[in-house]
Amino acid sequence: MLSIHNLVKIYPGPVNALQGVSLNIGEGLFGLLGPNGAGKSTLMNTLAGLLEPTSGSVTLDGADIVKDPRIVRRQLGYLPQDFGFFPDLTGLRMLELMLKLKGVDGPGGRRKIAEALLERVNLSRAAKRKVSGYSGGMRQRLGLAQAIAGNPRLVIVDEPTAGLDPEERHRFYRLLAELAKNRIILLSTHIVEDVATLCPRMGVIQSGRVVADTSPSAARAAIDGHMFEGFIPDDQLDEFARNHMMTSAILSEGSTNRVRVHAPAGTGAPAGFVVSPATLEDAYLVLIRSARATENAAAANAGVAA
Ligand code: ADP
Repeated sequence: MLSIHNLVKIYPGPVNALQGVSLNIGEGLFGLLGPNGAGKSTLMNTLAGLLEPTSGSVTLDGADIVKDPRIVRRQLGYLPQDFGFFPDLTGLRMLELMLKLKGVDGPGGRRKIAEALLERVNLSRAAKRKVSGYSGGMRQRLGLAQAIAGNPRLVIVDEPTAGLDPEERHRFYRLLAELAKNRIILLSTHIVEDVATLCPRMGVIQSGRVVADTSPSAARAAIDGHMFEGFIPDDQLDEFARNHMMTSAILSEGSTNRVRVHAPAGTGAPAGFVVSPATLEDAYLVLIRSARATENAAAANAGVAA
C-alpha cells in the first residue's frame, strides 16, 4: 500500500502546488487525473524522491519514503514525461546502460536481464536497432522496460500515452495492465480515456487538492440520470454555455452542435434534451468545474472578509 498523507509542496513564488494531498493506493492500476497545472508532476516527482515535500508523509508498505529515499530507489520504477534517450545507442545497449545507472544486476549479467526485459515489453526484435529509429510507442515501451527493471513494488508513469497513435496506445495499455498484476502502478494523465480503459481506481486532482478518490464506475454513477444530450445552433452556443454546465459540444453538419449538459437534481433538463448515460469524461469535467466553482466562491468570500 502506498499511503500519502497531507502532502504539501510550496515552490518559491510562492506557488502552492500541493495543498494537503492524501491518498491510499493499493495494488493494481491507479489513475491520477487532473488538468494542466493541477500538481500531478509535482506529486509524481515527490513520490519518486526527486523533489522534497514542504510537509507531509509518504509510506510504501509502511516504510517512510520521504525520510529514507533509499527505499524509493530500490522499490520504485519511474517513467517520467520526458524520458531521455541516447539516440545513437541500440535499444539493448540503452537498456543495459539504464540498468547500470539503476544498480540492477544479476547472476547472468546485465545483458541477460536487458534481453528479458525487452522480451517483456515486446521489443526483442528491435533490440539491435538504434533508438533514433524507434516509434513513439517503442520508446515508451523501452522506458517501461527500464522502469520495471529490478521488479519494483511501485511504478510511476507520467503522461505515458501523449503523442502515441491509437494502435500504439492500446498496445501500451495492454502492457501496463499486465504489469499491474502484482504491483502498484500510478498513472498520471490528463487523458480521461486512459483511466476509463485501465484503472479500477482513480483520483482527481485540481489546484493541488484531491477532489475525488473513487472508481470510474462510481464517478459515472454519481451523475447518472443527470446528463442530457441535445442540439444547439452554432450561433446560440455561447449563450447556452453561460447558462448550463456543458461537458461537450461537437459541431455537426457545420451549423449545429450536439451538446451534452449536466443538470443537477432539481434543475431540470434544457428544452428538447434527452437523458443520456454518463461517461467518465462527463464525470471528470463535472468534478473539475464543481471544484473550480468552490474555489472561486472561497476566494470571493475571502475577498469580502478582507
Ligand atoms: P501538472 O503536472 O498537473 O501539469 P505541475 O505539478 O507541473 O502540474 O504544476 C503545479 C503548479 O506548480 C503549477 O502552477 C506550476 O506552474 C507550478 N510549478 C511547477 N514546477 C514549478 C517550479 N519548479 N517552480 C515554481 N512553480 C512550479
